[in-house]
Amino acid sequence: VGVFFRPVEKINAVLETYPKGIAGFRRYTELLDTEPDITDAPDAIAVTSLKGDIRYEHVSFGYGGGRTVLSDISLEIKAGETVAFVGPSGAGKTTICSLLPRFYEADGGRITIDGIDIRQMTLASLRGQIGIVQQDVFLFAGTLRENIAYGRLGASEADILEAARRAKLDAVIAGLPAGLDTVVGERGVKLSGGQKQRLAIARIFLKNPPILILDEATSALDTETERAIQQSLAELSVGRTTLTIAHRLATIRNADRIVVVDTTGIAEQGRHQDLVAAGGIYRRLHEAQAGIQQAS
Ligand code: ATP
Repeated sequence: VGVFFRPVEKINAVLETYPKGIAGFRRYTELLDTEPDITDAPDAIAVTSLKGDIRYEHVSFGYGGGRTVLSDISLEIKAGETVAFVGPSGAGKTTICSLLPRFYEADGGRITIDGIDIRQMTLASLRGQIGIVQQDVFLFAGTLRENIAYGRLGASEADILEAARRAKLDAVIAGLPAGLDTVVGERGVKLSGGQKQRLAIARIFLKNPPILILDEATSALDTETERAIQQSLAELSVGRTTLTIAHRLATIRNADRIVVVDTTGIAEQGRHQDLVAAGGIYRRLHEAQAGIQQAS
């Protein structure tokens, strides 16, 4: 399973979450060793209030070592559109999404937002326009209030409460001993997986970026919590250009467009019904997943 990752000081601006476990750690150290620094161009501009029209133009990319992961990918995503990336593990779904905040630099081609090459934007301003939700949510030692405000440092109390309400975190807050002032994390109250997801969603409501990347959870939540979180994510994505690395049928079906990625690149794209009717890779993936769901 792919994870976005950058050294800690670089992720502040954008990443709401943190990879866990040995795989994440290994990738972290690999990156520190091998990833060349991605920095601002001398004439980079600070972007604000982008609409969120995204274009990948003939983008190629490899992590090094000679293997190409993305070869000549072209893709247009309209402002406000929700696109679900599906395909076999290792096909490059995560990679496509991680090029957008410039966690990695494309080797060829370019990516634009609202017609501006992302390399012409300052990193901080680019990442300020993108919210990311991953399955492992990064909590730091501190109060719930501080953890939500991480979405936008210096946010007012009213804005924090509003973000919490929209993420349906208010019921959670009401049940905590000291409400928003409850200390969470290692030394404080342990939040459940679903509560952490709500926290990540609240951070993004507060940040209010025009672009959203959802790296969908592959496991961990029970069905009811999962459904409730899906609902909140759907509300979060309203009015934002949303790229989802999708694993669940429900998410995929609700997308404006499904982009099927396989080792050859973008194999198919379209709406659920059209892709099922086309009888290609998507149909096979869909039938396989539907089979698993029926069996369990
Ligand atoms: P999954 O559904 O399992 O998350 P994916 O479609 O998102 O898969 P990616 O994570 O984008 O696939 O991986 C594409 C290819 O790039 C894989 O072969 C993977 O092993 C490789 N890869 C991913 N991240 C790195 C990295 N940080 N360093 C080197 N290779 C990587």
